[in-house]
Amino acid sequence: MNELPSTADIVIIGGGVMGASAAYHLAQRGMKNIVLLEKEEFFGQGATGRCAGGVRYQFSTEINVKLSIESLPMLERFKEEIGQEISYKKCGYLLVATKPEEASAFKRNVELQNGLGVATQLLSGDDVRKRLPMMKFDDAIAGTFNPKDGIVDPNSVVMGYISAAQRMGVKAITNSGVTGIRLNGERIEEVQTVSGNIKTGMVLNAAGPWASLIGKMAGVELPIVPVRRQMFTTNPLKEIPDDFPFVIDFAQSLYFHREGEGLLCGMSNQNEQPGLDQNVDEDFELTNLEAAIERMPLLEKAQRASHWAGLYEITPDAHPIFGNSNLDGFYVCAGFSGHGFMHGPISGKLMAEKILDGKYSSLDVSMLDLKRFEEGRLIQEFNVV
Ligand SMILES: Cc1cc2nc3c(=O)[nH]c(=O)nc-3n(C[C@H](O)[C@H](O)[C@H](O)COP(=O)(O)OP(=O)(O)OC[C@H]3O[C@@H](n4cnc5c(N)ncnc54)[C@H](O)[C@@H]3O)c2cc1C
Repeated sequence: MNELPSTADIVIIGGGVMGASAAYHLAQRGMKNIVLLEKEEFFGQGATGRCAGGVRYQFSTEINVKLSIESLPMLERFKEEIGQEISYKKCGYLLVATKPEEASAFKRNVELQNGLGVATQLLSGDDVRKRLPMMKFDDAIAGTFNPKDGIVDPNSVVMGYISAAQRMGVKAITNSGVTGIRLNGERIEEVQTVSGNIKTGMVLNAAGPWASLIGKMAGVELPIVPVRRQMFTTNPLKEIPDDFPFVIDFAQSLYFHREGEGLLCGMSNQNEQPGLDQNVDEDFELTNLEAAIERMPLLEKAQRASHWAGLYEITPDAHPIFGNSNLDGFYVCAGFSGHGFMHGPISGKLMAEKILDGKYSSLDVSMLDLKRFEEGRLIQEFNVV
């Protein structure tokens, strides 16, 4: 199964959640000769395997809420449909506002979400303090909570899709970094890899934070920038209740959720420069830890169990890029700007629709095309940390 075929009807580049989901959904629709290439030794070692696993309905733009409305139920049905347990824990997301402008945005977001049928609740500062007795949120002025948000295991989702795709004949191959894309005039002719070349007329770029590098190989400019983000986990903390939510201190981009019997904590470094470095910045980890202890004093006596860094894949409007490009046969499903894991299921399905039918039927994401950047049709998302 690991041998590189000489031809393919489509080559999917990247074995994270997007590539895996797209491979599965294309095969499920009956497409043959699908090859998925991953540069690493294992699938899902990029952004997907390093992410916090959070899944939520709480966004500030209609299209992101709609992506969640389609995608999260697919995760709920995952075991049944794909045959893989993915440990979906509905602990809820609790977003905390400490500034008046955040509180007004929270109110608008809850109205938007409720209008779309998503039952997010608006909380007062006192509600926040009551729900989080082990945290110090004296300055909280508002919050939002949705009990259906939660945490899912990213590796199980990737492996579930890859295994199901392989059962339908998809050739999913690791250790096969793509090094070039050869064109013949305006058409794709061949994908070149470290272990050989594949003749194909169609490519799906699902390379996450590396997507712009793949784009360059085909002469397609993609405004997707990799930016490092990191987190740590602690040893077991008996004070953290089983139903502790995914808490986000909005102003500080500081977040906490239960991980096993301990806690996972992360914070976005707003001064991080774009780049592909995935080593932990120990100085910033200290900044993160200090901010975390301020909010949750019991962390002072916790021990770090593990830490790691991964890459966000940021676009100018923090929304993904879906669909075709200026190069015939070159499709893109990338640029999810740090919240794409949860949208992986529906995104793969949408790409299968676009590739096989020429249009999206599950959800209209045509406004998230690559052209929006040159045509100035950007969409701003507030709820990204
Ligand atoms: C620290 C952190 C926390 C996050 N937390 C969350 C969260 O809580 N919830 C959420 O929904 N999202 C979260 N995200 C975002 C989420 O991880 C991503 O949006 C999503 O995983 C992107 O999936 P992908 O398949 O596009 O990218 P990836 O998972 O990165 O997959 C791309 C793959 O392409 C491969 N590749 C790259 N170049 C080549 C090449 N030349 N040849 C072959 N293969 C190649 C890579 O090795 C990689 O496996 C987080 C991200 C980070 C970094």
